[in-house]
Amino acid sequence: MDLGLRDKVVLVTGGAKGIGAAIVRACSAEGAIPVIVDRDAGAAESLLLSLGSAPCAFFDAELEKTSSCERAVHLAAQRFGCLDALVNNAGVNDGVGLASGSPASFVQSLERNLIHYYAMAHFALPLLRQSAGSIVNIASKTAVTGQGGTSGYVAAKGAILGLTREWAAELASSGVRVNAVVPAEVMTPLYRQWLSQFPDPEAQREKIVARIPLGKRMTTCEEIAAAVVFLLSPQSAHTTGQHLFIDGGYVHLDRALG
Ligand code: NAP
Repeated sequence: MDLGLRDKVVLVTGGAKGIGAAIVRACSAEGAIPVIVDRDAGAAESLLLSLGSAPCAFFDAELEKTSSCERAVHLAAQRFGCLDALVNNAGVNDGVGLASGSPASFVQSLERNLIHYYAMAHFALPLLRQSAGSIVNIASKTAVTGQGGTSGYVAAKGAILGLTREWAAELASSGVRVNAVVPAEVMTPLYRQWLSQFPDPEAQREKIVARIPLGKRMTTCEEIAAAVVFLLSPQSAHTTGQHLFIDGGYVHLDRALG
């Protein structure tokens, strides 16, 4: 199926690694022009190299700084003259718990995981209105299940689900669609780092996958990216305000299946 994304300019935050990198590759494979906004310049440059001569760009940015968010949107607009889509993806499960954290570290966690989603959407909005474009927000299943010991991250991801509905409502009249993709267990550099905190990471991984109904396996980055490119594309022209769980049935199916 041709998704109709050829020459569309798609900005992906955290696009250098993990899920974001898979979204960048999927966009490029569809003929779109991915724009990576990330703080890991080395990983971003290698990813761009792997895309060969396909059009793409990278802007080095620390998204916790609002001025960097504004600058990244400005540079993308300057380079390509338009913006068709925004994928808010960068985030980190940073373990700021109710007991282990503090009000100050909770606010920092929101800066790592939430504020830049709003900032990027805010600064991109005039361009997205012009293109009648689309936003996809990457959330997390922890927004609806909790995890324990990670209040800041979960607050951010819950807010992202709320904002997906709120922005879809605010922007419906201008034809800008807003949806969320909700991953659960996806092997990425961030996930590997989280697993490494357990005394036996492999045993922990096996315990988790045993509870995933579809295939007793983790979701791949490519499976998340496939949902994202569909939601960005005109093939989903009448889909907005949705929370799409790509998780092998982990969150919603009968526990007896796990
Ligand atoms: P990842 O492997 O860490 O890749 C994320 C990329 O974003 C990294 O290059 C990271 O750079 C960059 N980044 C993070 N914060 C940034 C910031 N403030 N400014 C600039 N760049 C930043 O993460 P992932 O596992 O692919 O996760 C992507 C998204 O999916 C996140 O929102 C995460 O919450 C969500 N998610 C993932 C899973 C999972 O199982 N992996 C499950 C649920 C939700 P650094 O390496 O320097 O941090």
